[in-house]
Amino acid sequence: MFLGHFAAALAAKGVAPRPSLGTTVLAAQWADGIWPLFVFLGLEHVEIVPGITAVTPLEFVSYPYSHSLVADAGWAALFAVVYGTLRKDWRGAGWLAALVLSHWVLDVVAHRPDMPIGLDGIKLGLGLWNSIPATLIVEFALFGAGVWIYVHSMRARDRMGKVLYWAFVATLVVIYLLAVFGPPPPSERALAVTGLLGWLFVAWAYWIDRHRVPNVASEGIAEWRTTSFRHR
Ligand SMILES: [Zn+2]
Repeated sequence: MFLGHFAAALAAKGVAPRPSLGTTVLAAQWADGIWPLFVFLGLEHVEIVPGITAVTPLEFVSYPYSHSLVADAGWAALFAVVYGTLRKDWRGAGWLAALVLSHWVLDVVAHRPDMPIGLDGIKLGLGLWNSIPATLIVEFALFGAGVWIYVHSMRARDRMGKVLYWAFVATLVVIYLLAVFGPPPPSERALAVTGLLGWLFVAWAYWIDRHRVPNVASEGIAEWRTTSFRHR
């Protein structure tokens, strides 16, 4: 799953406007963000096996620290405590924890049965990646919904708010289509290096957030102005 995680991060701003979009992207992408680090350390293993699924040539041999339910529950708790303590926004912290966990749920839908529950033992996966059309439908439906919810929850404060956001959306779509229809990565190491590029989207999302404000507040004020004007 790729676009689906960004969809969750975008949609989260509809219910939790206080955390930055950068923080919601960081939470939704947390497992994929730390995964390359564990691969470099030799603690998690991936192999490139063209044809193993219709969509991705990756065989996730083992990734208990980034992608097991138990580890992700721990990361979710840590994420919420750090954010909640720093920002004193415990409602936002709860949503961020849900986002970290949503990564595991969405990956279970897409992956082969390679998603561990504990650090060892049973692995789950519904195998959406066995079908290219089904994968594209699910990813783009989720992403479309996330993009729509974000646009209706957060309005651009200036031109940059529009340009940065729509360039972000378009870049994600292009990268995703290249990953699905392009050649497999040349090596496991090259794959892990490209995996680190995901952090650029976290930085980009923080940048977008500085140029956008919640819609609810502005609409609320506009409504209050019109009604109080009418009463006069
Ligand atoms: Zn993942």
